[in-house]
Amino acid sequence: MLSRKFCPKCGSEDVMMIAAGMTGSWMCKKCGFTGSVFPEKEVVGREIDENDMGDEE
Ligand SMILES: [Zn+2]
Repeated sequence: MLSRKFCPKCGSEDVMMIAAGMTGSWMCKKCGFTGSVFPEKEVVGREIDENDMGDEE
């Protein structure tokens, strides 16, 4: 099961994790919102990973 975090403020999925010591925080790259708790929504089905742009096996 995949889940993807999204910004509770603007709804953007363009968020990144900030490694701040032991506690991970999240930051929205779109609006700059930061927080330790970001909501996530489940991703159903197959989704193309942005990082997986290579050929199939
Ligand atoms: Zn945002």
